[in-house]
Amino acid sequence: MFGFKAKRRNRLRSQSFPDPWLAILRRNVPYYERLSPAEQQALRADIQVFIVEKNFEGCGGLEMTDEIKVTVAAYACILLLNREHDYYPRLQSILVYPDAYPVPTLRRGPGNEIVETHEMRLGESWRTGAVVISWNHVLHRPVDPTGNRNVALHEFAHQLDHEDGSANGAPILPASSMYATWARILGREYRELSEAAETNRPTLLDKYGATNPAEFFAVITEYFFEQPDQLRQQHPELYDELKRYYRQDPARDR
Ligand SMILES: [Zn+2]
Repeated sequence: MFGFKAKRRNRLRSQSFPDPWLAILRRNVPYYERLSPAEQQALRADIQVFIVEKNFEGCGGLEMTDEIKVTVAAYACILLLNREHDYYPRLQSILVYPDAYPVPTLRRGPGNEIVETHEMRLGESWRTGAVVISWNHVLHRPVDPTGNRNVALHEFAHQLDHEDGSANGAPILPASSMYATWARILGREYRELSEAAETNRPTLLDKYGATNPAEFFAVITEYFFEQPDQLRQQHPELYDELKRYYRQDPARDR
């Protein structure tokens, strides 16, 4: 990256981070407190670039606020921390609904006719440059006895997966030597989750991850940051692959 863009980013990164924004981070992003001071500083700098470069839009009557921008940007930038990155170059807009939102879908009716209905969604990631998200599910993550899900981490993980042009559960890895191990370990873990889903065996990971390899990558990213100790204990090789990719170690003692 050269010239104007790099200069503008450096200027944004070096601005002082507003105190009210810091209070928002501390309140809404528990992982922030677990980062080292150097990582916290890098995250704050990335948030300042992300908020200026991306277009945030309130949908379904939601009024956009700094709290929403800072919180969503923080989760997006946690996935970039310590890595070489270009701030999700294909991503232009973050569309935020106040809560779960209806999306029109077509289904087959009882007489096999096509009927228009809708399904409620918490988030989506579009390859055409948008993330859609339910603010209520970013802020008050529903506590589910089988796992702490995080819709913001989930949708931004999909964006990373899209960066190579296909959503297949394999983002661009930092070294070509990593692809074989990644495919072997994630492939095996994905098959195990799929088998557990078929036989209804209890698992740490949410079985939504067995939908396809892209959902698997998004779901394991949530667990890596939200339940790192359990993931490391029960899926050590998977944890290590994500640790190498994200260049963070959320389960380390601090
Ligand atoms: Zn997904």
